[in-house]
Amino acid sequence: MRAARLAEPRPASSYPLVVQDLDTPTAAQDEVVIEVSTCGVCRTDLQLVEGDLAAHRLPITPGHQVVGKVREVGSGVEDRHVGQRVGVAWIASTCGKCRFCLSGRENLCEAATFTGWDGDGGFAEMIVADAGFTYPLPDGFDDVEAAPLLCGGTIGLRSLRVSGIQRGDRLGLFGFGASATCVIQIARAWECEVFVCTRSVREQQRARDLGAVWAGGYEDSPPSKLDAAITFAPVGSVVVDALRSVDRGGVVAVNAIHLDRIPEFSYDLLWEERQIRSVANVTRRDAVELIELAAEIPIRTQTEVFDLDDVNTALERLSSGALAGAAVLAIS
Ligand SMILES: [Zn+2]
Ligand SMILES: [Zn+2]
Repeated sequence: MRAARLAEPRPASSYPLVVQDLDTPTAAQDEVVIEVSTCGVCRTDLQLVEGDLAAHRLPITPGHQVVGKVREVGSGVEDRHVGQRVGVAWIASTCGKCRFCLSGRENLCEAATFTGWDGDGGFAEMIVADAGFTYPLPDGFDDVEAAPLLCGGTIGLRSLRVSGIQRGDRLGLFGFGASATCVIQIARAWECEVFVCTRSVREQQRARDLGAVWAGGYEDSPPSKLDAAITFAPVGSVVVDALRSVDRGGVVAVNAIHLDRIPEFSYDLLWEERQIRSVANVTRRDAVELIELAAEIPIRTQTEVFDLDDVNTALERLSSGALAGAAVLAIS
């Protein structure tokens, strides 16, 4: 089977992924082999490929927004069957017995492993996954539409929860990529007023088209004080911009696995019980709930489709901000 492999992290512009032929994988106990139909390309993949996020294993096949059909079922797997359409997301396994796992916070499990970081991901014709970490996908979105929901959508939903946003509140989104595109649709369904700050004028227009009441640049403060904000841009100064925009008691949820330094800021900005909270990974429950919400609202994703052989082009376009939607690899 063909897979896009990273041997050594380097800039996306130098085309670091190489498509190679690998042995066909088989399913061990509790695992399934999935024939990959589509796989989304996420900023975390880019950060891993470029070395901003330190590799756990090399060489590795990145990709953690995988949609495909079960091709083989390992022993002990009862609730997945050959031919079933499933998704695989960022969280690949947890210990199942630590205090975090036992309290519904498996995203914080210290023994957790991650798709395309600890084990090979979905930039390939096949992937092996722990059956308990696969998600049956309802009809209503095709394989291309479903892929960006699995990370961008799921982490977006978790960010909304971490932000503490309530129905009808005023929400700020700082950065407007694939995840924010899902978040605005959920927030609108919850009747929130959404304010979007992003550098790109084209993204500002896209935000208004999706129902933002206001859109501007990072340096333009939203016209109303926000109840909560979520930052998506991988830039520390944006966290301070967001903090400046939230009202007393407001939360800034930082949706980033890797961020450059947050610049020093006056305690006055944090005073009055404002909070900054990071959003770390996702639980399986987040993924299941997002998939249900996505079908119900319904959440519409905007995508740009690439062949597996063009994976480096997809990463390069993501890196330069040239994408007009979430990048998705169409593999088989
Ligand atoms: Zn991701
Ligand atoms: Zn655990």
